[in-house]
Amino acid sequence: MPVLSVSPAIVLRTRSFGESDKIVTFLSRDYGKVTGIAKGAKRSRRRFVNTLEPFSLVNLRFQERAQSSLVFVHACDWLQVFKNLTTGLENIAMASYMVEITDELTREREESRSIFEHLKQGLVFLEEQGSSVSYLTFFEMRLLTLSGYQPMLESCRRCGKKRPESGEPFLVRDPEDNRDYVPHWCFSPRDGGILCRSCLPFRKETLPLSLEALNALARLQENEGLLPSSPGLSGLALKETRTILPRFIQFQINKELKSVSFLETFCMA
Ligand SMILES: [Zn+2]
Repeated sequence: MPVLSVSPAIVLRTRSFGESDKIVTFLSRDYGKVTGIAKGAKRSRRRFVNTLEPFSLVNLRFQERAQSSLVFVHACDWLQVFKNLTTGLENIAMASYMVEITDELTREREESRSIFEHLKQGLVFLEEQGSSVSYLTFFEMRLLTLSGYQPMLESCRRCGKKRPESGEPFLVRDPEDNRDYVPHWCFSPRDGGILCRSCLPFRKETLPLSLEALNALARLQENEGLLPSSPGLSGLALKETRTILPRFIQFQINKELKSVSFLETFCMA
């Protein structure tokens, strides 16, 4: 008798293989990311009734194969059907992005229940509440923390100047030209965190970051994974974070995310 491994899992991506098979990558709760071959999946609709489509939450049964990193996918049964996830372009764009960044920020066979639960919670949120750019920002920040890629937001990465405490007025008076201005910090994907105004000229490829957006991101990071009732991001802050976080993630994984332009088209703040 073959030894079968069983775990709840989310389908991350699927591709055709040969005439009738599919190669499917899952994020499983108990075995981490697992890629396997589903024999006959393109022909037999009975064995895998639509359960191999991306975003599916299934009970995966698979068997290890000798001398191959690809497992043999025996069966997948629905655990939860997300009907609304694939009904609107905004939902599809957001779910595709959430699944792709989770895929890219995790490695094969590294068990992480918290990342599995986080993605599952994200898909359930989308299914029940619909797309939300504020929620997406929370999702990204939490995923970055869980996968060990959290950006450094406490102090300037070059000179160490501390981020101003929240509660400080956003507008301050510039002593040189005696005008109000928004204290300007910026985000440097290469430095993995923030730079103060004085250090800005020393770096290329920086992205503007208002104090409001910076403090909001820091609050999300300090939130220890609890979804705030309202992340409290204004339009400007959301716009900045929508640029910064995908750019930061792409820098970390050293490649372009396919779902970003799709997301930008349908889910801009
Ligand atoms: Zn600095």
